[in-house]
Amino acid sequence: MMPGQIAKFGSTAAQLLFGGIAALRSRRDAANTRGVEDVPGPDEADLREAVKQWREVFEHNPVMYFMVDPAGTVVNVNTFGAAQLGYTAAELIGQSVLSVFFEEDRDFVRRCVALCLETVEQSHTWEIRKIRKDGSILWVRENAKAMLRGDGTLIVLVACENITERKEAENALRQSEAYLAQAQELSHTGSFGWKAATGEITWSKETYRIFQCDEGTKPAIPFMLERIHPEDRLAVQRTTGRAAREGQDYDHEYRLVMPDGAVKHVRAVARAIRDAGGGMEFVGSVTDITAAKEAERRFRESEQRFRDYAETASDWFWETGPDHRVTQISEHSDTAGMAPSGVVGLTRWDIAPDSDLEPEKWQQHRAALDAHVPFRDLVYRSRDRDGHPIYVRTSGKPFFDANGDFLGYRGVCTDVTAAIRADQAEEALRKAQAELAHVTRVTTLGELTASIAHEINQPLAAVIANADACIAWLGRDPPELNAARRSVEWVIEDGNRAGDVIRRVRALAKKTDIEMVPLDINTVVREAMALVQRELATHAVSTRLELSSALPRISGDRIQLQQVLINLMMNGIEAMQDVTDRPRELTIRASEAYEDGARHLLLTVTDRGVGFTGETAQRMFVPFFTTKSGGMGMGLSICRSIVEAHGGRLSALPNQGGGATLQIILPPHQEDVS
Ligand code: ADP
Repeated sequence: MMPGQIAKFGSTAAQLLFGGIAALRSRRDAANTRGVEDVPGPDEADLREAVKQWREVFEHNPVMYFMVDPAGTVVNVNTFGAAQLGYTAAELIGQSVLSVFFEEDRDFVRRCVALCLETVEQSHTWEIRKIRKDGSILWVRENAKAMLRGDGTLIVLVACENITERKEAENALRQSEAYLAQAQELSHTGSFGWKAATGEITWSKETYRIFQCDEGTKPAIPFMLERIHPEDRLAVQRTTGRAAREGQDYDHEYRLVMPDGAVKHVRAVARAIRDAGGGMEFVGSVTDITAAKEAERRFRESEQRFRDYAETASDWFWETGPDHRVTQISEHSDTAGMAPSGVVGLTRWDIAPDSDLEPEKWQQHRAALDAHVPFRDLVYRSRDRDGHPIYVRTSGKPFFDANGDFLGYRGVCTDVTAAIRADQAEEALRKAQAELAHVTRVTTLGELTASIAHEINQPLAAVIANADACIAWLGRDPPELNAARRSVEWVIEDGNRAGDVIRRVRALAKKTDIEMVPLDINTVVREAMALVQRELATHAVSTRLELSSALPRISGDRIQLQQVLINLMMNGIEAMQDVTDRPRELTIRASEAYEDGARHLLLTVTDRGVGFTGETAQRMFVPFFTTKSGGMGMGLSICRSIVEAHGGRLSALPNQGGGATLQIILPPHQEDVS
């Protein structure tokens, strides 16, 4: 009962006490009025004894008694009552009773006292807080009643009972109920009770909220069924029906359709208990699991998505354990997928037949695994499901548990057989081309024998002539030593010249690996021209060299580029073989050109020969295409592959006034590009 509520009550100890004392008093008073000697009454000693006994009871009865006058002053209080408040009776007597009440409760106390005074002899009861001397709270239930005293004045008698413990328990309960309600709200979990026999249902606040139902309405089965998704109704009825019949716990999920059409997922869990009358009763919880369902749906979707990727990709995923043995490998929907089967439980080096052949590669790999660091692009040999050898490229990443303990690796494998085979084929082709280039170079040299012989003969003839002259100078008397020295110097010069030619020829004939170095194209052109000098002279071809010192360097293989130039010049000479009506002229021009906005080197070899028709233009670069009786048809095709290996392009253009121009575009040496 809260302050503000006053109830009537019947007989109490206080009334008994005060009543008892009052009865004794009235008997004594009556005796006094009539005269002691007339009326035989209790003697004075008995009366005193009775008062003493009653006072004992009054003082030490474990009930707080207060006597308050109409002004609210404490007229009397028992020892127990004062002690409960931390005072002595003397401290309270004569004080306003309001002093032991809270400021905000004092009006209420005044009203209560006033009510008692208006309704003399009627009892009232209320509950209220009091303040102890030490400031702590004492909750009491007060029974009060105003009585008329012998002298005609009114007095209010109050008996109080300590209800602090009950109040504290009530408060604690109220608080725990509030916590529970809050917890229910936070966890989207409401609670319910359901008496199967009567159909009576009770819901917590949160359950009302979940069902979106006004808290004032009484929950009922028809309403619940209406809320449940039509597709789930039957299942819900079956589950709850069976549980009620068999007295079993239940746990089920179903959907609700809200008034706005939104769908909610809920999970209801209930425990079956027998009530006192033996009836079946269910107590349970209902949780809104919409968010969890949605997250689960998304998770499933994304998992499915990755499964789809994994199944359709030509790559496959693997997982290895702490001992690096395969624990999982992704399945492919396509049974002809390339993921090897039967590898679970094996390590990568158990699978790879190349592990013995390339020990260094595997040592490095195992060191990376033992260090638990990621690895990338390890290529090794394996076998597909049918046992065919394949090449596999794999990358992996270590994974750890929450404590940071190593669990294994996860990664992806790709079948790179096709790419590796293509690389191998390309390498084989490159080798074959290099062989062929070498062969053609030697062939060309064969064709150039006359020129080369001439190139060497000339300085040799000069050497002989100068040596003869030297002997002649030395034979003079006295010997002409200065002239002899000059002759010997010329001998050395010519000897070097012949030596140069031989070096160049040997370089061309030698089978060397390609060596890309920064080159000055002018030098390459001059050296190539030196080797075809005789050819040019025999065929009465004049040459024009248009070079420039400001050209960008290129990066290339000197011998190969010389081979290209010799080939193009020889073709030009041959194309002009039958030309009689115009001068046979071969122009070699080196200049700059811009390709895609970048500076490039442009090298052209222009002749005034027979030129070519459209059809020839298409096929000139095709291997073995030749229009010459003794031709091999490999020259241009080799030239083109050499130029392309240098990152450049080789093309043929017809000239306006007849003849052909073969054009090479080469990128500049990278380090020179700013
Ligand atoms: P080959 O010289 O052995 O025939 P090439 O591959 O060097 O082989 O040349 C292929 C063909 O391209 C030649 O037979 C010729 O028809 C044509 N050709 C090459 N260079 C020229 C040129 N400067 N003028 C006209 N036709 C040319």
